[in-house]
Amino acid sequence: MGENIQTFSQDLRCKSWQTEGILRMLLNTIDSDVAEDSINLIVYGTGKAARNKEAIRKMIELLKELQEDETLLIQSGKPVAVFTTSSLAPRVLAVNSVIVPAYANWEYFRELEKNELTMYGQSTASAWAYIGTQGIQQGTSEAFQAIAEQNFQGTLAGKWILTSGLGGMGSAQPLAIKASGGVSLIVEIDAKKVERSIKYHICDICTDSLDDALAHVEQAKQMQMPLSVALIGNAAEVYQELFHRGIIPDVVTDQTSAHDLLNGYIPADYTVEHAERIRKQIPEMYLEDARQTVIQHVKAMVGFKEKGAVVFDYGNNIRQQAALAGYEEALSFPNFTYYIRQLQCEGYSPFRWVALSGDPNDIYLIDQLILDYFSSNSKVKHWIEYAQANIRFQGLPSRVCWLKAEERILLAEKINKMVANGVLSGPILFTRDHMDAGSMASPLRETEGMKDGSDVIGDWPILNALLNTCNGAAFVSFHHGGGVGIGYSLHAGMSVVADGSREMGERFQNIFLGDVGVGIVRYADAGYETAQKKAKELGLGL
Ligand code: NAD
Repeated sequence: MGENIQTFSQDLRCKSWQTEGILRMLLNTIDSDVAEDSINLIVYGTGKAARNKEAIRKMIELLKELQEDETLLIQSGKPVAVFTTSSLAPRVLAVNSVIVPAYANWEYFRELEKNELTMYGQSTASAWAYIGTQGIQQGTSEAFQAIAEQNFQGTLAGKWILTSGLGGMGSAQPLAIKASGGVSLIVEIDAKKVERSIKYHICDICTDSLDDALAHVEQAKQMQMPLSVALIGNAAEVYQELFHRGIIPDVVTDQTSAHDLLNGYIPADYTVEHAERIRKQIPEMYLEDARQTVIQHVKAMVGFKEKGAVVFDYGNNIRQQAALAGYEEALSFPNFTYYIRQLQCEGYSPFRWVALSGDPNDIYLIDQLILDYFSSNSKVKHWIEYAQANIRFQGLPSRVCWLKAEERILLAEKINKMVANGVLSGPILFTRDHMDAGSMASPLRETEGMKDGSDVIGDWPILNALLNTCNGAAFVSFHHGGGVGIGYSLHAGMSVVADGSREMGERFQNIFLGDVGVGIVRYADAGYETAQKKAKELGLGL
């Protein structure tokens, strides 16, 4: 495609930094150091950044030409039109993977996809906001620490955690478990992913022998030494084997791409190569094998729970897949958002920023700014210090950090001044995860078990996207099916650039209060007292 994000510079290819920021994020998302499979435009967990290479080529061309009173429309990864709007409007509006509710299932979706009418865009993949494994790292750490606090007096020291999947998101698990003091055994079928995890110090040890893996786990547990052991194997087979041997971990979860049984999840007795062949040649057989495997996989998880382990679904819809395949007890353990509901009620959720210059020092300068301004916030301070020491940048240097609305506003305004004064070497793009307080309707994840029964209400993410559009974010998107798959979630994305201008500086208050505030109001409306208090404090709600 002839475009290279490594040509970091101050040179604008577009008419403004708002558009240039969007272009750099598109290229970053498909960069081979960031995406799981950049050749096929798959960013993480089977989600694509764009429909095909031709769509990317056209988007680059259109973004370069886009005027400051124009908006580019993207329909499921394909550019479809440029409209004259206004300088305050977003430069890009994108809607991904949305289909009319009565048809919102994988079967129908795959037919549309085959006819090149749509694509599966996950969440930050098609919102061009993916920054590699770091993006989910702090959230994963928050989740495992919450589990430690709620079950093991605040630490995972001397505990062992059985999990699986070393893909884009799953690779955040080993470091997060170690950060809380625990020992992890991570089952991954793809030897290349295991090799990568060793290369980048995500895992400490790898083996293809269960006995060998267990010996390392046992030793580390006895010594209360944090350790991550990657085991090459099929998660369903290993979970069953452990259960039959009567070996019960302290905590069990899973991050295989079970949301998509055909393209993401590998059935028992399949190698990666065999899976690639059979899913193309005999998809019905593949799906049937995957269904039988996922039932056994989740049966073992339920068995572990009955024997006293803390078991939870890690946002990949594995429970529902097993339930759909015919295992009725599959939904008998909770999903991970159960542990973070109160944080979302306060609007405390995963914010992220990216140095568009490509200069890592910009990120370190912002780290220092945070350490100075949020020094009394021990969680933030701990995370930034941890991230500096342990996180490898993938693609454009970036940082994720859970922050509340008021903290995002303060930070964005200060960073904008640093850009204006030349302290930073270039503009900074702000974006966020889709599991942010205001963005997600997902009845088997973020909105499971809502106090007022509003789990499946899908209005809120649409309000979120509309409000971000009114408030002048540079990129606003609305999506279907991220994380848990087609039919199970609706969510919204946004990005905006601190370009150092006074005009942008003035927008941040409305943008971030609106973006996060929708979530606080959503939880307040559902009857959560923490959210009601927070909404009052921020002057939101009726
Ligand atoms: P990915 O596709 O990049 O990685 C999944 C990994 O699982 C792959 O490396 C694959 O080889 C492995 N795998 C598949 N089947 C297996 C099996 N039976 N046994 C062992 N290994 C197997 O996906 P990802 O980005 O890491 O995401 C993992 C899942 O988490 C997805 O379903 C995704 O939608 C979901 N997700 C979770 C969160 C969260 O916050 N926790 C957020 C977004 C998405």
